[in-house]
Amino acid sequence: MATYVIVGAGLAGAKAAQTLRDEGFDGEIVLIGAEDERPYERPPLSKDYLQGKGEREQIFVHPAEWYADNAVDLRLGRRVTRIELDHHVVRFGDGSRQPYDKLLIATGATPRRLPGPGTYLRTVKDCEALKERLAAAESVLIVGASWIGLETAAAARAAGCGVTVVEPEPTALNRALGPELGDLFARLHASKGVDLRFGTAAAEITDNGVRLSSGERLSADLVVVGIGAAPEVGLARDAGLDVEHGILTDAALRTSHPDVFAAGDVAESFHPLYGRRLRVEHWANALHGGPAAARSMLGQEVAYDRVPYFYTDQYELGMEFSGDIEGYDEIVYRGDPESLEFVVYWLRGGRVIAGMNVNVWDVVDDIQELIRSGVIVDQKELSTGQQ
Ligand SMILES: Cc1cc2nc3c(=O)[nH]c(=O)nc-3n(C[C@H](O)[C@H](O)[C@H](O)COP(=O)(O)OP(=O)(O)OC[C@H]3O[C@@H](n4cnc5c(N)ncnc54)[C@H](O)[C@@H]3O)c2cc1C
Repeated sequence: MATYVIVGAGLAGAKAAQTLRDEGFDGEIVLIGAEDERPYERPPLSKDYLQGKGEREQIFVHPAEWYADNAVDLRLGRRVTRIELDHHVVRFGDGSRQPYDKLLIATGATPRRLPGPGTYLRTVKDCEALKERLAAAESVLIVGASWIGLETAAAARAAGCGVTVVEPEPTALNRALGPELGDLFARLHASKGVDLRFGTAAAEITDNGVRLSSGERLSADLVVVGIGAAPEVGLARDAGLDVEHGILTDAALRTSHPDVFAAGDVAESFHPLYGRRLRVEHWANALHGGPAAARSMLGQEVAYDRVPYFYTDQYELGMEFSGDIEGYDEIVYRGDPESLEFVVYWLRGGRVIAGMNVNVWDVVDDIQELIRSGVIVDQKELSTGQQ
């Protein structure tokens, strides 16, 4: 009987296990996770769940009994410390081993850190500890005006805290959305009373705040750091797999070893639509990438080519983003951005490469179809919703 091992019991790993069973795999499935919790989704950790809304049970990918019911051998609180490609085994810190016929690496990412103490947000434990600290804090300093930093800012305001955000870039979400739309998020937060300081880098977290690169010190009851995440590539690199920013895979999510696959935040996969490798640190990529890798492990033909997709909720702004803005040279709006109910398209050479719908729903398929089609668009039609 074949044994398929999945290292990393997050969304990508859990969805891969589910797909293996859905596709009729009747061998052994071993799903190994370093955390004590069964697989759960992280987006609520900086949104509803952080704000005390929603039940804990809702964050999990599957009910607790699902694993036994589906003969998935879920091993929690276990960290794989080594992969031996030649022997087809993974090893744990205590020296014990688990053989595999095929292996999926879905080890995700961990927050980038600054020197000194500081609060980080990745796990449900982090979230529950942060929720308590927000309730006790009067002033919160957030390092980083990206997704997690801004969502935490919104949660901190909802908890009644005074909030300052420091960010070295000229505006919020500058790299993800560009300055035009990044600025819209910055103004939204400013209108909610958040003090945003751009062009300001934190060098170190101190016992009562941060020391900036300029030498200036800012104090706060609580410092939350959201400066991005680094993919957990150590196991793969040590094993000798090809790794750059993430674990390199082809479009079938196969690594440089034919029996080893990678999916989710940790994978840097060739994307047929973009003709280059992408590493996508988004929920939807784990949701769909895990199943794609599972099908590939089963020997099915797979070309994983989903348009990258992301969503956020901050105050009254809900949005969905599709695509990748890299190289954009024009922006077209449908609706008035100031109304916070609009669609925006990023174009390169007259073609739509990314789109974001803000408080407008059921348009993601159309936006993604436009991106996929690669057609030169009529900007007037685009702005009036005819295209
Ligand atoms: C607070 C927060 C909010 C987010 N909000 C959004 C959002 O609104 N929209 C969106 O699109 N995306 C969001 N994301 C990103 C999204 O959650 C990730 O893209 C997704 O979790 C990636 O899933 P994954 O399975 O690849 O990795 P992970 O969820 O990181 O899971 C990997 C698991 O592998 C385990 N692991 C690592 N190394 C080992 C090892 N050696 N042995 C055993 N286990 C190991 C880890 O402990 C972890 O549990 C958010 C992320 C965070 C942290």
